[in-house]
This record gives sequence, structure tokens and C-alpha cells, in this order.
Amino acid sequence: AAMPVITVDGPSGSGKGTVCRLLAEKLNWDVLDSGAIYRVLSIAVLHHQIALDNEEALVPLAANLDVQFMIDSETKKSRIVLEGEDVTNTIRNEEVGATASKIAMLPRVREALLRRQRAFSTENGLIADGRDMGTVVFPSAELKIYLTASAEERAQRRFNELKDKGLSVKLEGLLEDIKARDDRDMNRPVAPLVPAKDAIHIDTTELNAEQVFNKVLKLIEDAV
Ligand code: C5P
Repeated sequence: AAMPVITVDGPSGSGKGTVCRLLAEKLNWDVLDSGAIYRVLSIAVLHHQIALDNEEALVPLAANLDVQFMIDSETKKSRIVLEGEDVTNTIRNEEVGATASKIAMLPRVREALLRRQRAFSTENGLIADGRDMGTVVFPSAELKIYLTASAEERAQRRFNELKDKGLSVKLEGLLEDIKARDDRDMNRPVAPLVPAKDAIHIDTTELNAEQVFNKVLKLIEDAV
């Protein structure tokens, strides 16, 4: 039988990444971090010096993207390797996220990444994290979650994360970036960020990671 797929969609900073990782560890399932695929593609685009609106050149690059998602056998941490180079950390910076949301607007680029994303569904269950997991990539998922949080709270979380890494940034700038990215993700014509009709909404503004994890785990246990 096909193994269960749970989709977790929502805007950046809503806590998807953390909750998906915790769920996958708990259930021993696989995770699809679809945002990472768009981020890796952005780095490839920079390497190959392709213009962000050159769909003709972006489509074959997306279709043939030489990327591997692996678990380091020693540290047990996940690693992402693009064309032989470890990009696990570099894909996380703000500029890469902003670039990702620009190329993610191109319909044929999204189309080229579809099959690659669906191929993540394996013998184990799958937790799929993104913007269009429940609406486009896995429309028949067993359970669809839509996570939200206020833009202010999401900017604050990002601020704390960066501060923990020893980086100093302005909260105000982060808030502006988050709002710009929301605008691009929610208002693009193809696969915009919208909740699937059958998604369960969870507002995480007042919740910590563990509380969100517990809520979603209960929903999964009821659904599968
Ligand atoms: O989730 P993350 O911040 O890593 O995603 C980076 C960007 O990739 C998002 O802002 C969005 O534009 C794009 N994306 C997407 N569809 C997905 C996942 C990410 O368009 N399923």
C-alpha cells in the first residue's frame, strides 16, 4: 500500500521546518524540505550566472539539478550537496530565500521540480514541508496542515535565530523581508501559498515548537 503523506504548508517563519523535523524523528518517516530545493536551485542559478527571469535556461537546470539530500553517517545530520559542493548552510541565508521566491514564481520551473518532489515518497511515511504540498504536489495526502503566525512573530523568531548564531540584524528589516516574501508567495499566479480546502489551520503565534509538535502528532495519530 502507498505510505502516508502528511503535508505542512505555510509562510516562511511559521515553524514548519522545526515541526516537520521533530515529527519525522518521532515517527521515523522521511521529510521533503521543498523550500530547500528552490533554495538549492537559486544557488545553481547564481553559479551558472543565469538571469532570474530566463525561464528558457532555468527549466533544464531545474529538471537536471544535480543535488543530493543525505544523512551524514557520523553526525546523523542532514546534508545537502549541489554539484559536489556542500550547500547545507549557505542555502539558509536571507538572500538565497529571496532569490528562491523569485524563481519559484515561474510556472515551468515549478513543473520541472514536481516529479523530483513526488519521488521523495518512499517506503516510509513522508512529511512534506512547503507552500503547495497539499494543493499541488500531494493533493491526496492523508492529512494537510496549514501553519500560520503573525508576520511580527515570524520576524521575531528569525531575529532570535540569527542572534543565537551571533549575527546582528535589524528586526525591522527582517519584518519587511518577510512581508515582501509573503506577498510574492501568496500572490503569484501559479501554485500560490493558499491553504488546501481540506487543510487544518494552526496559528502558532502563541505556541512554542513543542506545543505545535504535540498538536500535529495527535492529528497524525487520528488520521493514519
Ligand atoms: O520554505 P523556504 O523559506 O525554504 O522556501 C524558500 C522559497 O521557496 C519560498 O519563499 C517560496 O517562494 C519557495 N517555495 C515554493 N514552494 C514550495 C517551497 C518553497 O514556492 N513548496
